[in-house]
Amino acid sequence: MPRPYNFSAGPATLPEAVLQQAQAEFLDRRAAGASVLELSHRGPEFMQVAEEAEADLRTLLSIPDDYAVLFLQGGATTQQALIPLNFADPGQAADYVLTGHWGATALKQAEPYVMAHIAADTSVDGYRDLPARDEWTLSGDAAYVHYTANETIHGVEFRDIPDVGDVPLIGDFSSSIAAEPLDVSRFGVIYAGAQKNLGPVGITVVIVRRDLLGRAGQPRAPILDYRAHDRAGSMLNTPPTFNWYLAGLVFKWMLAEGGVAEFARRNARKAAVLYEAIDGSGGFYRNTVAVDARSRMNVVFSLHDDGLDARFLAEAKEAGLISLKGHRVLGGMRASIYNAMPEAGALALAGFMGDFCKRNG
Ligand SMILES: *Cc1c(COP(=O)(O)O)cnc(C)c1O
Repeated sequence: MPRPYNFSAGPATLPEAVLQQAQAEFLDRRAAGASVLELSHRGPEFMQVAEEAEADLRTLLSIPDDYAVLFLQGGATTQQALIPLNFADPGQAADYVLTGHWGATALKQAEPYVMAHIAADTSVDGYRDLPARDEWTLSGDAAYVHYTANETIHGVEFRDIPDVGDVPLIGDFSSSIAAEPLDVSRFGVIYAGAQKNLGPVGITVVIVRRDLLGRAGQPRAPILDYRAHDRAGSMLNTPPTFNWYLAGLVFKWMLAEGGVAEFARRNARKAAVLYEAIDGSGGFYRNTVAVDARSRMNVVFSLHDDGLDARFLAEAKEAGLISLKGHRVLGGMRASIYNAMPEAGALALAGFMGDFCKRNG
């Protein structure tokens, strides 16, 4: 029996080839005599794993040399608290653009440390569209502008990088990093928890323009200081070595598959197939996000009658399609189709949706 297609939003499906490689190397990686789980983070075997992961990620995302790459713990949410501590001076303003649940979370995490200013907020419309750039009210003296590139729960995604002039732009790319080519040089900071599109939960990638590391920020302990992590090569304390290793395997897999340009093509096709299944269902399935703002990574939809939800999920599971239940904030369904989801998985789901609609419509 093949493994089912897993549409979980995060932790999410991983490339099967990566899981198999990790399994094959689990007890003894390359004659080290130990599992990666058992090796010192400062030993030569792990140092090589760590260095290759960084080099591969730099290649994958074309990260310029004047950007530091950090591999940290704490998930994306912890970075949302560290960002004001590291980049905003005491009492300084910072601008937040709220286009869904995670933007609101970022604001909440920052509020104790910064004069948080809401530059745009689409919550009154249920986060179903993106605020036009010319409607944002930026502070002018802000330390940075924070936005969420892809809202994982609400299924809303920015197509273009917003222009905020000389103010550093900080992007939460937790659920869309490496989904397409990205001009990193447009950003002050890009951060992403790995468990959506980069690998396992437990490690977070932070890409920081080096000059921002020179900012004073606020009084903080070294463990909360990006500069200290950078100087220590992300080994200020014991890093999550296995997660780092596994993410590194995913980076190599992505490069071997053709890199982010290839994934952009696949992701566009996967999303098109699913939105067609929704839009072509005569109202049986619904997605209420403005068409131009629809996420390519997280396709949210509801059935016209939520009394059918349980049957939809049960029959999908029978058909080898799992983890389609929507987030509790929205209900309904959500199909997350990150890089590791094969096109055959999206096609299988679209086929199932059409069939279910015929039988129940
Ligand atoms: C999942 C997610 C987060 C939270 O990530 P944690 O690693 O659980 O802290 C933040 N932002 C976005 C866009 C996400 O998808």
